Amino acid sequence: MKIKNPATNKVFAELEECNLQELDNQLVVLRKGQKKWSQLTVENRLDCILKFGDLIQQNKEELAAIMTSETGKPLQQSLNEITGAQNRVDHLKANAEKWLADEILVDFGPTHEKIVYEPLGVIANISAWNFPYNVGYNVFLYALVAGNAVLYKPSEYASLTGKQFEKYLYQAGIPKDVFICVIGDGTLGQQLLELDFDGYFFTGSYATGQKIAKTVAPKLVPLQLELGGKDPLFVTEDVPDVQLAAVNAAEGAFYNNGQSCCAVERIYVSEIIYEAFVDALVKEVNSYVQGDPTNLKTFLGPLTRESQLAVLENQVSDALEKGAVLKTGGKVVDCDGYYFQPTVLVDCNHDMKVMKEESFGPIIGIQKVKSDAEAIALMQDTEYGLTAAIFTANENRAMQVLQQMNTGTVYWNCCDRVSPNIPWSGRNNSGLGSTLSSQGIRAFVQPKSYHLRA
Ligand code: NAD
Repeated sequence: MKIKNPATNKVFAELEECNLQELDNQLVVLRKGQKKWSQLTVENRLDCILKFGDLIQQNKEELAAIMTSETGKPLQQSLNEITGAQNRVDHLKANAEKWLADEILVDFGPTHEKIVYEPLGVIANISAWNFPYNVGYNVFLYALVAGNAVLYKPSEYASLTGKQFEKYLYQAGIPKDVFICVIGDGTLGQQLLELDFDGYFFTGSYATGQKIAKTVAPKLVPLQLELGGKDPLFVTEDVPDVQLAAVNAAEGAFYNNGQSCCAVERIYVSEIIYEAFVDALVKEVNSYVQGDPTNLKTFLGPLTRESQLAVLENQVSDALEKGAVLKTGGKVVDCDGYYFQPTVLVDCNHDMKVMKEESFGPIIGIQKVKSDAEAIALMQDTEYGLTAAIFTANENRAMQVLQQMNTGTVYWNCCDRVSPNIPWSGRNNSGLGSTLSSQGIRAFVQPKSYHLRA
């Protein structure tokens, strides 16, 4: 596999791709390894994960440079991601033993009852490139602590990073027959679905997630899908500081070039503050430094995938044809890398693709609303259900809006945020199942119920 730098469009590394025969052998190896691994205590397994966390933090400068070279993520944001992902390790340290322990429910009378949480076995983890540490850790670290073996397929746009995970997991004491990273693109991902794993954990697009669900359904094993979003933000007229609201909204939309599953993808603004909000947001977006992702001052690097440039161009032209006004940006930058100008479209409506289809780029559509009821209807006019946010000074008003959102996560006066303490889950086309929290720990085990008579 040739690895290209999205900032230059040049190949700078090559990796050996895996084939179906090798996959088959690896599954056999992992099956054996998992048996031994599952017999260790949670504490022993956790020790390896804690060492892994330390090693990653000790080497984060080098690892950030690798992630930036293959994804184009600005170096400062690569460093932020690696530092931030440690909160998953800390969450496991504080919670894994508690949630994986046997539960004794009845220890009196003639029949005692308890639940034992057993690992699923060998799981397949097909992952995405946009936050490889966060979305990777959410699955493979939690799976390993619970006693599973993992076949990890990183995205073809984050393969070097995937190989680093393997290297440091081995250095941290995870046996080589318990975690294997395989290199390949969607074709390898598809081949992996033909093998009999004990669970499939996928992070990626709705289109791929749906294909995976259809393929693995007959196997009747756990399937978890963390998919895309079209996440709305509603800014009400009572925000105490319109400029600050605009700065925060812009960060939610443009951080990581808008390539976050929970990026703000569309904004509804009360008509009373609409003009002031738009002016402040455009000013903020125009202040972003776009350029070489290895420069620590850069906020917007190239897109990771060249093909997304055409998607964004199409969303802009579609919106303009249907009456939107372009406030800034709108074009592919004329250079070798995959750069798209940060783009703000206003006076948008729901006939436009930019308000309905995932953009996954540095582009935002803004629509004026007259009432909370109108905002709620528009926020809910989507096939996705990942997150929804409201900026308002009024907590009751926020709760009334957020309670009506059919999404896995809701935000009051914040956005584009994930915490290991609470579940991360999507509804409708945004996915199935939860990672993180106690539920994300239990996602990798199956309960066995014991009825015991002495
Ligand atoms: P993608 O669906 O193109 O690819 C994801 C993974 O699936 C890659 O490893 C790819 O090689 C593999 N794949 C592709 N075709 C396959 C097939 N037919 N069978 C099996 N595997 C296959 O997605 P992407 O571009 O890597 O990621 C971007 C998407 O991921 C966005 O939609 C984003 O919102 C979503 N995402 C969601 C979350 C979340 O937590 N909900 C987190 C990150 C990204």
